[in-house]
Amino acid sequence: MHEIKKITIGTDNCYIVSNGRDAILVDTASAPGCDKIIAECSKFNMKLIVLTHVHFDHAENAAKIADYFNIPVAVSKEDVELFESFDKQPLFSYGLTGRIVLGLSLTVLRNTKVEKPHNIIFIKDGDSLASYGIDAKIISLPGHTNGSIGVDVEEKSLLVGDELDNWVVPATGHLYTNLDAIKESAEKIRSLGERTLYYGHGKPTKNKFKFFK
Ligand SMILES: [Zn+2]
Repeated sequence: MHEIKKITIGTDNCYIVSNGRDAILVDTASAPGCDKIIAECSKFNMKLIVLTHVHFDHAENAAKIADYFNIPVAVSKEDVELFESFDKQPLFSYGLTGRIVLGLSLTVLRNTKVEKPHNIIFIKDGDSLASYGIDAKIISLPGHTNGSIGVDVEEKSLLVGDELDNWVVPATGHLYTNLDAIKESAEKIRSLGERTLYYGHGKPTKNKFKFFK
């Protein structure tokens, strides 16, 4: 039985998934959260950082935290170019919530350079995290970014990054780089059935969300 601890920095969530001793950190929030996240992680035997995708509000502290604990950072190959520049995968939005969120975040997304960690390992659909002590699998969920992934813990809890968001109500992610892909990924999440969903932004919910068609 794993424990999932949500750490919220401003509007950004990241998560410590632990078996009581060993743990992984899923996402790292933005720079102001670094010390708090390191303090929380210090309670565990940290094994790995997993990035659901490479936007600054998920990845900005990855290099620092990885160095601190001397652990690798797992990321999907398709997102590595985002360490060079956010503009490699432009973002679009739908709906009023999407327009507001994109309007508020676009400048900072563009202008924040995410430091690339030294020790990157690539993850892909179906990979198991058992060798890090965690009963979880990587699920490919492209759309928000091309390399977005989810972490499915014990087939009970799914950490979705920004593929879905819960800014107002749980819904298909309001920001996307590929609309068809994010819709398909939302379908994929829905088809998993019973899960608790943990979002990059907003509170956890059951696997029930507003589907954007
Ligand atoms: Zn994002």
